[in-house]
Amino acid sequence: MVDENGHFLGSGIFDPDSPIAVRVWTRDPEDRLDAALFRRRLERAIAIRRELFPADAVAARTTAYRLLNGEGDRTPGFVIDRYGDVAILKIDGDAARSVADQLLAEVEGPLQAFGITALIDRAGKKGEAFTLTPRFGELRSKVEVTEHGVPFVVDLAKGQKTGAFLDQRENRRRIGELVARRGGGKAPRVLNLFSYTGGFSLRAALVGGLVTSVDVAMAAHATAQESFRLAGADPKKHTFVTADCFAFLDAARARGETWDFVISDPPSFAPSEKAKPKGIAAYRSLHHACAAVLAPGGTFVAASCSSHVGLEDFASTLDDAALGRSDLRLLELFGPPPDHPTLPNFPEGRYLKLAVLA
Ligand code: SAH
Repeated sequence: MVDENGHFLGSGIFDPDSPIAVRVWTRDPEDRLDAALFRRRLERAIAIRRELFPADAVAARTTAYRLLNGEGDRTPGFVIDRYGDVAILKIDGDAARSVADQLLAEVEGPLQAFGITALIDRAGKKGEAFTLTPRFGELRSKVEVTEHGVPFVVDLAKGQKTGAFLDQRENRRRIGELVARRGGGKAPRVLNLFSYTGGFSLRAALVGGLVTSVDVAMAAHATAQESFRLAGADPKKHTFVTADCFAFLDAARARGETWDFVISDPPSFAPSEKAKPKGIAAYRSLHHACAAVLAPGGTFVAASCSSHVGLEDFASTLDDAALGRSDLRLLELFGPPPDHPTLPNFPEGRYLKLAVLA
């Protein structure tokens, strides 16, 4: 890539059909966009993860995390998530896929040296069936991993993202800590909305919460219950509701039911800049409905994964007017975890936000 005077600008992956026309890999004229460059970037990403996830005592061990975060690890177009000894590769866009064989030619060595025995390429569009193809090692479709020592099941073939929402790991730990902190003798009642495979639910259940998980996807509840059993929590002591969260909240409000903790982690409401005003309005109305079923003195945990709604915009959807009550304050506001690094000038990379109000 050169400017109009022929001066070198950078090398990258060109995709005329994508909203990101060039995914820039390097601005160094000495660098070539090749397997050696990919390998160097991967090795740096691995070195960082080695420090982030030391081989702790089993009770605290995390075996599932993002190993390579596309732009954030300076490998635009390529994401690798680790699930125990298996890694899942996600390639973003046809242009990146067309150069994948060339760029990935040297990844096996560094990945094997890091304890990864299989790299599985997961292809397919959202909403369609995924295909899993090993680039090396053996195909696996289901694995058990641990997060801060808590085991859970991941369906690599059908799960969302690359199988699980690894970006919420530190927030799952935080939920466990928040629920554990709440004394008072009585088991705290926890409502987990958009619960998916029950990550937040499980952490709350393990520290004595009585959890109601709500999701439209019945299959997600089945995986959640499997993880509950694996972690030693009896799913029968908890409630799993297959329903639309908005309808569930309306009905709960009508019956006057409340919870000590309400957790809300909906799918993205603003997938594009154009959808932002609508997305913000949708968060405000969801947060209003959540606040209506939050017991006095309760804690409200609200998440957003909309890349076009920034941290301050998201905080604004939790103001008194949106919530319809004026007894809550923002205790903490979190962004993405360090295994999902971002570049300072690419705010969209910091799509994940989590607010704790009490
Ligand atoms: N908190 C989860 C991730 C949630 S992903 C975790 O940490 O793993 C969003 C989930 O919302 C998906 O499981 C999807 O099935 C569910 N969902 C989307 N729209 C919904 C709706 N209107 N009502 C209930 N669930 C919904």
